[in-house]
Amino acid sequence: MPDSNGLTGRQQFFLQSLFPGEDYLDAPERACVYGTDASRLFALPWAVVRPREPGQVRELLRWAQQERIPVFPRARGTNVVGGCVPQGGGVVVSCLGLDRILEINEEDFTAQVEPGVVTGDFQAMLRNRALYYPPDPASARFSTLGGNAATCAGGMRAVKYGVTRDYVLGIEAVLPGGEFIHTGARTHKNVAGLDLTRLLVGSAGTLAFFTKLTLKLLPLPPAQSTLMVGFGSLEQALAASAAVFQAGILPVAMELMPRETLDCVARVVAAPWPQNTNALLLLKHDGRPEGLREELVLTRRALEGVGPCFLVEARDPAEEDRLWEYRRLINPASFRLGTDKISEDVTLPRSKVAEGIAGIREVGRGHEVSVLTFGHLGDGNIHTNIMFDRDDQRQSRAAAAAHDQILDLVLRLGGVLSGEHGLGLTKRKYLERQVGPVERGLFVLIKKAFDPCGIMNPGKAY
Ligand SMILES: Cc1cc2nc3c(=O)[nH]c(=O)nc-3n(C[C@H](O)[C@H](O)[C@H](O)COP(=O)(O)OP(=O)(O)OC[C@H]3O[C@@H](n4cnc5c(N)ncnc54)[C@H](O)[C@@H]3O)c2cc1C
Repeated sequence: MPDSNGLTGRQQFFLQSLFPGEDYLDAPERACVYGTDASRLFALPWAVVRPREPGQVRELLRWAQQERIPVFPRARGTNVVGGCVPQGGGVVVSCLGLDRILEINEEDFTAQVEPGVVTGDFQAMLRNRALYYPPDPASARFSTLGGNAATCAGGMRAVKYGVTRDYVLGIEAVLPGGEFIHTGARTHKNVAGLDLTRLLVGSAGTLAFFTKLTLKLLPLPPAQSTLMVGFGSLEQALAASAAVFQAGILPVAMELMPRETLDCVARVVAAPWPQNTNALLLLKHDGRPEGLREELVLTRRALEGVGPCFLVEARDPAEEDRLWEYRRLINPASFRLGTDKISEDVTLPRSKVAEGIAGIREVGRGHEVSVLTFGHLGDGNIHTNIMFDRDDQRQSRAAAAAHDQILDLVLRLGGVLSGEHGLGLTKRKYLERQVGPVERGLFVLIKKAFDPCGIMNPGKAY
């Protein structure tokens, strides 16, 4: 019989033998840390294990399928949608013991890594070799390559460089039941068979447990620069953004901060932009110095054609960092508007961003809640924070109603529910608004093919 933590004594014994010492824990006061993630949802794991070799993952998943024990892959727990919360109970499997960089191949421009390597550490190590791994979630300093691959993380550089999916060439993974699979290759092109690598990237731990990733690298761009540009209206900022693309320029990043967001940031720091700024763009460019100089001339010409009220250019990394700090301050500053937030990362076609932002503002006004919109204008991934106070019933109801209406608006405009964070536990219930029954049926069949007993991260994502 299972005891109160869902595992029988025999099952606990098996796990303790496979994961000796500190690599197995089940005491609630220690295991509870592994029951939550950045979503702040919580469920107590039955046990937590930390494999240090891929062979242990194979043994674990062979056993888990036989015993019908749910397993919940977990890296740094920075996902915001409850992606690794062990809801319903089961064994949390931490990837942090699988954290070796196995190979950097400077001829092939590839790397082979284990999933628990912290993304920022990997990128810093590559910089010393003039190599570049572009995916840059804002959490890069503390999230992992494996977590990024499982969520297909994206960041500000997606405009020019794409997202994690574009840099995963191959995956070694263990299927429920214990079989290893090897998808993709270390080549930059591969069209033999179905693309299982792309299927696994973004699968949120629901299909297989990644034990190795083969990543694509680029040469490090030697020069970079940042422009901060203020406009008298949101419409002007959006027109300026379009003008940059129309001039044939593809910036690395193009971020938008409309008036409400600027006011919010100005509550916590002295703002460098003039009073009449109603929308701000932050643009990043990179390349070889000669090319970069020309790109900046063309970009400034496009922006100045729309009549900015403020423009600063930074070429020195410290000065650039100072400008980007205003963008990073949005999250902490937002809590001046409410103790709680519903944070959305909806994505719109670029041509619908203006309509989307206007509509979202209208929804906020209609429900009398503060809504901040900001973020990755360059790829239409507009972050939307609905700020409220959970203890105030009126505000909580208004925030929930506004949230619902915003998701409908985005889908009506041809957008998607999530561009970065995924659906996890918190947004899974909305999936059917975006995906039809036939496609949803295919998701179910694919899940069954990988995980016939439904033990891999059950109840998540789709
Ligand atoms: C401050 C902050 C900023 C953020 N900024 C961004 C951003 O800019 N862009 C963005 O995309 N996200 C962002 N996020 C969300 C989060 O950082 C990403 O989703 C990230 O990829 C999660 O990485 P992790 O290592 O923490 O993985 P976890 O959160 O531990 O896991 C994420 C998912 O991956 C699965 N998983 C983990 N390891 C494996 C494995 N080895 N095999 C199979 N499945 C596995 C888990 O089951 C879970 O479903 C941010 C979060 C925070 C807190």
